[in-house]
Amino acid sequence: MTAIPAKSIPPVSPVRPKAIWSNLTQPHDQITDLAERRRARLLTSFLLALILLSLLGTTLSSFPSIINGDMNAVRNNVVNLAFPLLLLVGVYALSRSRYFHQAAYLSLAVLYLGTMMWVMSSQADSSYILNYFLIYVLIAAMVFSGREVAGTIVVSLLLIMVFPLLAPDHPSAHSTVLRGAFFFVAIASVIVLIFMQHRNAIEKDRRTELTEALNLAQQANASLTESNAALERARLAAEESARLKSEFLSTMSHELRTPLNAIRGFCGIMLEGMGGEIDDEARHMLNRVHSNGDRLLGLINDILDISKIEAGRMELVNEPFAPRALVEKWRSQISVLAEKKALNFEVDIDPALPEQLYGDAERITQIAVNLMSNAIKFTENGGVRLAVQVQDNQWLIRVTDSGIGIPPHALNYIFEEFRQVDGSSTRVYGGTGLGLAIVKKLCRMMGGDIKVTSELGKGSVFTVNLPVQVDKTGGK
Ligand code: ADP
Repeated sequence: MTAIPAKSIPPVSPVRPKAIWSNLTQPHDQITDLAERRRARLLTSFLLALILLSLLGTTLSSFPSIINGDMNAVRNNVVNLAFPLLLLVGVYALSRSRYFHQAAYLSLAVLYLGTMMWVMSSQADSSYILNYFLIYVLIAAMVFSGREVAGTIVVSLLLIMVFPLLAPDHPSAHSTVLRGAFFFVAIASVIVLIFMQHRNAIEKDRRTELTEALNLAQQANASLTESNAALERARLAAEESARLKSEFLSTMSHELRTPLNAIRGFCGIMLEGMGGEIDDEARHMLNRVHSNGDRLLGLINDILDISKIEAGRMELVNEPFAPRALVEKWRSQISVLAEKKALNFEVDIDPALPEQLYGDAERITQIAVNLMSNAIKFTENGGVRLAVQVQDNQWLIRVTDSGIGIPPHALNYIFEEFRQVDGSSTRVYGGTGLGLAIVKKLCRMMGGDIKVTSELGKGSVFTVNLPVQVDKTGGK
């Protein structure tokens, strides 16, 4: 037998009288005004209470007859209740519809009629009229607005006035109680009217405040929409100008590179002696033309890269590569530069480095070579060390040098475009100030970052961290 999981047994919801009452006195959906809804709920609550009370009253009053076995009396009680109950239920149903105003008129009419008929037929004391009519005026004050309440007061006073005419034989038709009742109802009604006036004034104030707040909110909303539209226009304009800039730069770079490659090519041909014998001085000058051509080409490539990244047109490949083989390639490329300056160059590879990673090996090489070239450029004594490590889900490329170091204030801006520690025209070290900006942007594009620590005169440490990606989908 399989056990039924505890979750599948629906919890028994407790009967909540408050929720039931609230459902039974819910105003109709089409009544949207808050004050109206409050009034409608008050009326339905009142009618529902009246229905329940009359049911309870009949049940209680029938008890002695049930015990005595006087079924005739019980039947009489039920018959007597049937009509008023039916009427009440009808009015209650009407009050739940959107015609709750009409339900209120009807309720009051029924109440007035019932009271008058009861007092007249039962010969009850006319002071009952006073008590009940006061209650009706109060009910009207709760449910209606000013004019309708005034109407209720007038009806009450009229009925008290015509009572002696309608029932001249009634024991208290000409009593002073009735006259007193007239004045009492009149005075109490004035007080009720004054209270109502006060309540209406408060309601009006609140409405005015609400309308003002709403207006303010609408104005704020309108200006927000306007500034959003302006922002959107500015964004489109900026995007368009960025696109034009990068288009211009890539065209320019292409146009510059073609003649530059021709110059470098012909220099190479002449240096190899294919264009005829050249003397040492000419060779020296050709060498300078060639190396300046190289620098210019590097600059053009950097500008092209940065403009591509900024225009969002730089695309990275996601191919498998062997990180160790890659590091070896860097070693052979950089050791030549280190030897030229008689610097030590060490490479340290973490044994935990995976055999294969996924990513853009060419762009990762660009990052590493850039950092190592800088390290060698800014180091005169000592050496440069490349360490490739694995840490958590990241692999690190750390380039440490014993060079000139970077002052603390410059650590913030060296990653910005065209920023150099020494940007003066008399600076010792060449360069454009674009390398680190490209490195940082590439790192970010790959989901990594770059950090630097440095001490002036002692050296710098640049650390790149990239996510370890062991399959094409980016799995770690
Ligand atoms: P470039 O080297 O072409 O000037 P970079 O963007 O690569 O441009 O570097 C910006 C600046 O950061 C350099 O001009 C230099 O002042 C400083 N810098 C970069 N790497 C080092 C380093 N290893 N040691 C000292 N300074 C450095």
